[in-house]
This record gives sequence, C-alpha cells and structure tokens, in this order.
Amino acid sequence: MALIVHKYGGTSMGSPERIRNVAKRVAKWARAGHQMVVVPSAMSGETNRLLGLAGELAPSKASSEYHRELDMLAATGEQVSSALLAIALQAEGMEAISYTGWQVPVRTDSSYTKARIESIDDQRVRGDLAAGKVVVITGFQGIDEAGHITTLGRGGSDTSAVAIAAAMKADECLIYTDVDGVYTTDPRVVSAARRLHTVSFEEMLEMASLGSKVLQIRSVEFAGKYKVPMRVLSSFTPWDIDLAEEAQSGTLITFEEDEKMEKAVVSGIAFNRGEAKISVLGVPDTPGIAYRILGPVAEANIEVDVIIQNISKDGKADFSFTVNHSDYNRALDLLRTKVVPELGAKEVVGDPNICKVSIVGIGMRSHVGVASTMFRVLSQENINIQMISTSEIKTSVVIDEKYLELAVRALHTAFGLDKPAE
Ligand code: ADP
Ligand code: ASP
Ligand code: MG
Repeated sequence: MALIVHKYGGTSMGSPERIRNVAKRVAKWARAGHQMVVVPSAMSGETNRLLGLAGELAPSKASSEYHRELDMLAATGEQVSSALLAIALQAEGMEAISYTGWQVPVRTDSSYTKARIESIDDQRVRGDLAAGKVVVITGFQGIDEAGHITTLGRGGSDTSAVAIAAAMKADECLIYTDVDGVYTTDPRVVSAARRLHTVSFEEMLEMASLGSKVLQIRSVEFAGKYKVPMRVLSSFTPWDIDLAEEAQSGTLITFEEDEKMEKAVVSGIAFNRGEAKISVLGVPDTPGIAYRILGPVAEANIEVDVIIQNISKDGKADFSFTVNHSDYNRALDLLRTKVVPELGAKEVVGDPNICKVSIVGIGMRSHVGVASTMFRVLSQENINIQMISTSEIKTSVVIDEKYLELAVRALHTAFGLDKPAE
C-alpha cells in the first residue's frame, strides 16, 4: 500500500462529466489499496472569471488590502471543485472528505496572490486516511499566520500537490493534466513536439522558470528540495486503463543523470510571452547606474529579468531590461517620474511586444557552440535578437513577439527535437 497524491488541473476538472471521470480514476487507485490524497484546481476558466469580476469593480492596484480580497475571491474556485469531487467520489461508493487550505491547514507567508507555503499540518488528513477515506484538498491556497486566506500564484495547485506530497512523504505525486506529459516544447504551438519519457529535475526547473506552464516553477523547486517522485500524465486517458500502465505513463521527473536518459544536447525549448522590455536611453555611463535604475524598481517590488547595457560613444549608455507585463506600466511610470529626472537620462521607451525564447539542456554543459547554433538559426530566419542571457544549462533570447512561433519551430528542428514524421 502506498500513499499517493493526485493533482488534477482545471481542464481535467472542467465539467461534471470530467469530475466524474476523475472520481472514477481516483476510486480505481483507492480500490487497488492505495491511500489517496487528491488536489484539484478550480474548474477551467473559473479563476479568470473570478478575477475578471474583481477587475470590473476596481482597476488592479498594488495595495495589500486589494490583494487580500483577490485571494479571498480566487480561493473559492478550488473550494467548489474540491466539494464537487468529494461528492462525485461518494457517488462512486467511496468515503471521501474535502478540505480547504485553511482547514488542513496549509500555512503560508502573507504575500497575497503569490504566497509561499511554510508548513503543512497533516494530522487531520492522516486521521481520515487511516479511517479509509479519500481526502480532497483544495489546490492553490493556504492561510497566513493572522488567519487570512492566501493564494500561491497562477498555476499554484501544482505546488500545493507537491508540497502536500513532501509533507506527507508520499510515495509519488502524479500531476494529471490536459497533455500526456512534458514535451520538448509546448505541443499546442509546435505539432512536431515530442513527449519526453524522463526529464531531469534541473531541466524541468529551467523550462518552468522560462515559461513552460505545464508545471508551476515552485512545484518543481519543492520536488527538488524534498526529492518528491513526480510524474506528469494525462487525465484524458480512459479512467479504467490498467493501473500499472497508467502509473508508468507520461513523463517522470528524475533527480539523477541517468545513463539511459535521452541524450540530447538541447532537451527542450521554452518561451514566454509575458514580459515587456524597457529601455532607459542616454544614461551617463558612471559607476552605480544599474543600482540607481534598478534599485527603485526592486523597491517597488517589480521583478526584473533579462538586463543589458550598451555603451555609446559620447559616454552615455542605454540600459534595457525586461519586466512582467503586469508590472510594465507601473515600471514605466516609476522610471519617468522618479528615476529619469534624478539621473539626467534622455528618455525611457518601452516595448510590450517582445517574447523570450530559451533552449534548455543539461548537455549544454559539456558541448560548446550550442548558443552559436541558436544565433545562426535565428539569423537564417532573419530574426533580430534584442537581448541575450545565458547560464550553465540554458540560453535565452529576447525577440519581437511576432516571430515567436517561427523561432521556436526553427530551433526545434535545428536541435533535432522534431518527432519522426508519421
Ligand atoms: P493544468 O490546468 O492541468 O494545470 P496547464 O494549462 O497549467 O494545465 O498546463 C498544461 C499546458 O501546458 C498544456 O496544455 C500545454 O499547452 C502547456 N505546455 C507548455 N509547455 C509545455 C511542455 N513543454 N510540455 C507540455 N505542455 C506544455
Ligand atoms: N486555479 C488556479 C489558476 O488558474 C490554480 C491552478 O490552476 O493551478 O491559476
Ligand atoms: Mg497548471
């Protein structure tokens, strides 16, 4: 008998029919003798719908009071789907009980809309499991020290599931979703994308952080820190397929470099449409400039990603960086009103229509010339590279958003990732 955590995403929970299928699948696992904890997301579209309602009443604000209410609101989506799943499980003849994050409780810090899990008290859940119940726990949310409901950031149910699996020392955490595993790139964008049987934890971490939304990055961090065995697989297979076959399907996240692992130099291509570029032009090229520009940005809690500084001939530099779309206007305002007048820079310009494309692979450590192949492929497609950022196992470029698909497809082919033609 094993303790297994299943997580089901929004599409997998998208209708009563799909919830019934989830219940049948979970019942199959429970009847095979496993202790089951299930973490569902809100039904597809629900979190967007809820946040949209808030947006109709008030424009988004940076205030903590406002973000508290967003969490209070958004957390209800998972409460609905959890209760529905418990009802469906009961209808399948299982004993089942659902809990919200605050009932467990899942303790987090107080950063509304992007809270971090600090601890999970599993006593109540263990009691239910021992009594033979399937336990359903809302994804995406927790409670802070003062008793306020918090959420974990978009896609946060993945993190809830892995954190619960870590806290309970579960034998495995299975992330059921609307694709049948982790692919070389988003299969909805590149039809030639190939499913990976295994992907190393480090590569998965890079892919998630560089924009592959199949797993929330914090879930991968948790899995790495606590060595949680984790697999991504499809919720759309027939619920009654053989359990042993299901348990081996999808993509396994591995923690050791396996000799047998698919030995590609580049394992995957990630992309992110969610960033915008800001350039401060004509900055006096003196020590401390990066700090004087990015210091106030950091103080305003705006995350900066790729950074580049160009020197121009007359001792003035141009300084560019990327931020999330959601912070773009705030960052522009801040720079125009505070930073530029103090710094004596010429002007601030912005471009929200950019994207970041990244190649990822452990093989890049031991192979030279991988980045230059990337640059060659992009130049052959006449795609201008605006910014570059590299680390040990990835190279990212910022390009015009309109070339995103062309760039990803060309790189996918050039690095030998396309699946064999059928
Ligand atoms: P869920 O609702 O189950 O959490 P998400 O929509 O958050 O599902 O994540 C699954 C989606 O991630 C897929 O439908 C796919 O379009 C996208 N995706 C992006 N990159 C990849 C990748 N490398 N492999 C698989 N899916 C990916
Ligand atoms: N429902 C939340 C979201 O849409 C959390 C999740 O789906 O993982 O972001
Ligand atoms: Mg998700």
